[in-house]
Amino acid sequence: MTEESPVLYVVPTPIGNLDDITHRAVETLRGVKWIAAEDTRHSAPLLKRIGTAAHIFALHAHNEESAASRVLGCLEKGESVALVSDAGTPAVSDPGSRLVARARDAGFRIVPLPGPCAAVTAFSGAGFPDPRFLFYGFLPPKTKARGDALRNLLKIPYTIVFYEAPHRILETLDEMAAIFEKDRVLVLARELTKLFETIYTCPLCEAPAWLRADENRRRGEFVLLLGASKASVDSDESERVLRILLDDGLSVSQAARLTHAMTGAGKKLLYEHALAYRDTDDGNSA
Ligand code: SAM
Repeated sequence: MTEESPVLYVVPTPIGNLDDITHRAVETLRGVKWIAAEDTRHSAPLLKRIGTAAHIFALHAHNEESAASRVLGCLEKGESVALVSDAGTPAVSDPGSRLVARARDAGFRIVPLPGPCAAVTAFSGAGFPDPRFLFYGFLPPKTKARGDALRNLLKIPYTIVFYEAPHRILETLDEMAAIFEKDRVLVLARELTKLFETIYTCPLCEAPAWLRADENRRRGEFVLLLGASKASVDSDESERVLRILLDDGLSVSQAARLTHAMTGAGKKLLYEHALAYRDTDDGNSA
């Protein structure tokens, strides 16, 4: 890793299994003069294992502005800096975004490395057929704000990915089960990449009881993935069928009638969607 001009590297680190660090991340951490770490004591064993001679200083949620000024000072002197958080990808529910924005605004090159991230790891192991998901991260800790936040997500037609702490996991699931449709799929991805890794899938309404049945199930770190509501999955399917029929040359009313027969979606809505699709299509091809 040799760079002509100074770079701010954003370097993901393992979320449990220390072998999950990329070769490039190791080379980067060995090659820079400075490492800004969320918690220097937490990162020390990993950095020792890697064997870096870099100078390490803290950049965390409570000093991000002043630490970012220090990073900019290093970059101005022509010295590259690597940013790491305690685990996973910096700036994903972790400090780092304010530093990245300031370095970018000051004209420095930012190089984000791909690597471990609990949300992506969980999604890849969840088996949702639809590739679309919304990453939410942590819900607000207070009950009222959390309920409001969850209700605001009722209309999201995709899988929603949450981070949650073990001491709030039950409360959060109870509240989710009260707010969302009971048969939405819920995947609990716990202790990913670690000894007690568990990926459990069930209808949302069964998740609180499953967690209550064994306190070991409530230990450790969690990603919660709430699958899309059945209504939005169905409406995606009816939309797909409708478009195939229209693309194949059927009239708006024929396509709406056949899609209704095949998927059970409402005829009036299908007719409106078919009209809108045909108009857009005409507009596009004009
Ligand atoms: N930046 C990190 C990332 O890229 O995933 C996330 C940091 S955030 C402060 C920590 C949260 O991520 C935990 O509370 C948990 O929700 C999730 N998490 C981190 N490691 C995990 C793991 N090994 N298994 C399950 N969830 C994990």
